[in-house]
Amino acid sequence: MSHEWLLIALPIIFALGWFAARLDIRHIRNSAAALPQAYLRGLTELLNGNEAKALDAFSDIPQTDNLPPAVQFTVGELSRRRGDYRRALKTHQQLHENEKLSEADRNRALWELAQDCAAMGFADAAEQHARLLAQTPHYRDLVFDFLIKNYQMRRRYNDALNLIKNADEDVRQLQKKTAAHLYCRLALADKTNKVRLLEEALALNPACAHARILLIDCAQNSTPPQPQQVIAYCNAIADDTPEHLWLVADALVTAYQQMEERARGQQELLRLLEDFPTPMLFKTVITLLETESATVAENSAESEALQHTINTVIKTYVVRNGGMQASMYFIERQTNRNSGHDSEPWLAVKQNLLNARGKSFSCDHCFYEMNHFSWQCPCCLNWESFKQRQQ
Ligand SMILES: [Zn+2]
Repeated sequence: MSHEWLLIALPIIFALGWFAARLDIRHIRNSAAALPQAYLRGLTELLNGNEAKALDAFSDIPQTDNLPPAVQFTVGELSRRRGDYRRALKTHQQLHENEKLSEADRNRALWELAQDCAAMGFADAAEQHARLLAQTPHYRDLVFDFLIKNYQMRRRYNDALNLIKNADEDVRQLQKKTAAHLYCRLALADKTNKVRLLEEALALNPACAHARILLIDCAQNSTPPQPQQVIAYCNAIADDTPEHLWLVADALVTAYQQMEERARGQQELLRLLEDFPTPMLFKTVITLLETESATVAENSAESEALQHTINTVIKTYVVRNGGMQASMYFIERQTNRNSGHDSEPWLAVKQNLLNARGKSFSCDHCFYEMNHFSWQCPCCLNWESFKQRQQ
């Protein structure tokens, strides 16, 4: 008697269960029907290398936040790569806020958010997101590099330096070169403490040519100028980083002139070129000799001697090292000697050849190319990554 209610309740429970199952199956069938087509289309496009079409296909999927996290990360990354930063940001924000996701996935979303913000130029927000991951072992090193670059882009060199100073000993050792350049950047903006900051740079990295060159500036501009100090720094550069000698050849010649030892300066310059025959040093030495030649009286014995030196330097360099530029100088001088004057048609040919030759410097890390030298690559922000092309 007490179980009579079951006779009524059981069919109702059964019917409710049946409805629930039907609803569930319909939902699964609907989402399954919506998911695979667009999803598979997206994957196929991705495999074929059509990122834009893949992105379109993924966006056809209703409620992308129902997609597996791996697909959502792909959508976010593709969006950023294609310049659709807002979409990347939105996707990664949804992933980060999704409490059902694992901690690893939410951290990954936060890291991607930092990249999105950096790409959009929101450096403050990028820094905030990245900092939240600074203590997470997997992201520690990545965050460190990210913040160092972030601060440099914002010219917050002191913040970048503090980050290095507070890092572990092994990281500090690895970042010595960068830290020295950061001191150089600070020195350029601080006339009062310039020498002290440059000395700090040299204390960290005794072979830092950037700091030595800036100290050469200080020695040249002090009253009275200190040519002996200039020469000492130039010799130090020749010992440690001869690839940067061409940047100080001018200062070296001037220093010897100030000491009234012009001939010795010239000899010193030629000796350095013989020891370190880089294309840029060659070009600088020839330019300096030609400038000097322009200051002496035409057809004088001194002028003849200088012309002879220039010809010998070019010939020796071409024979030993070749290179398009040196060869061009050589041919040019031969042509000029025959015509007696600069021949304009030849100058046009020379310019065309120079243009065809490509850029003089390229970055070791990202292969960015430039015609002028820079201590830091404007593209990847690595220091001293610009190498002269052999030309
Ligand atoms: Zn680079």
